[in-house]
Amino acid sequence: MLQVKDLHVTVEGNEILKGLTLTINAGEVHAIMGPNGAGKSTLSAVIAGKDGYEVTQGTVTFEGKDVLEMEIEERAQAGLLLGFQYPVEIPGVKNIYLLKSALNAQRVARGEGEMPAPEFMKLVKEKLGYMKMDASFLQRAVNEGFSGGEKKRNEILQMLVLQPKLAMLDEIDSGLDIDAMKVVADGVNSLRAEDRAILLVTHYQRLLDYIVPDQVHVLVDGRIVKTGDAELAKQLEANGYEGIEESVA
Ligand code: ADP
Ligand code: MG
Ligand code: MG
Repeated sequence: MLQVKDLHVTVEGNEILKGLTLTINAGEVHAIMGPNGAGKSTLSAVIAGKDGYEVTQGTVTFEGKDVLEMEIEERAQAGLLLGFQYPVEIPGVKNIYLLKSALNAQRVARGEGEMPAPEFMKLVKEKLGYMKMDASFLQRAVNEGFSGGEKKRNEILQMLVLQPKLAMLDEIDSGLDIDAMKVVADGVNSLRAEDRAILLVTHYQRLLDYIVPDQVHVLVDGRIVKTGDAELAKQLEANGYEGIEESVA
């Protein structure tokens, strides 16, 4: 589904990704772990098409298509979706309106036409239930006055409504208490499907007790230095990243 080959990315003149290679197949959940500043967020931002990143070498393909040639909207329409590490507040825009317009923009781009309002309401209410969110969240401005945990739930709600082919989630566990993290993890697990892949960026192993990844990659200084299964995350929790960095050096 996603193939990243020898990716080099520069931000403001500094090389952040230094030859990163990664393959994600449909149906898989991959976790990217690594120390602060390793380039984890940069990787997902480049795949999603955020501004400010210069790809100097390498390729990214999604279902065989060159992602780096696609505009940010085309990437979303193709089914690539990145949740925000720091969700933005959008005063004056109701949450339900954002969900509806994002979903319908994708459907129209695929030639499916807008979803009829009753069907949309049924879909949203079902997903709200998964996220243990009250219907009043739909009428509030996007993320405005939401607590940290509510913003994360809202981010997963967006994913559940939009049903991307590749869902990228950056540090969805940061700042969550254990109960909120379980709700968020349940939401992510409900996204797991044969025709979908999930890329989780996380600094801590804790989340991976609840969302068990098929593969764990350790990203250090712009490169993936180690890949393993969920057991690797447990080793990192016990030993930290230092041992890994030394073994690479
Ligand atoms: P991680 O998510 O692994 O903590 P990031 O991808 O956020 O790491 O950042 C990697 C490095 O790139 C850091 O040194 C960071 O300061 C730098 N960086 C990221 N984004 C920017 C930016 N917009 N401007 C300048 N430096 C940036
Ligand atoms: Mg960071
Ligand atoms: Mg980050």
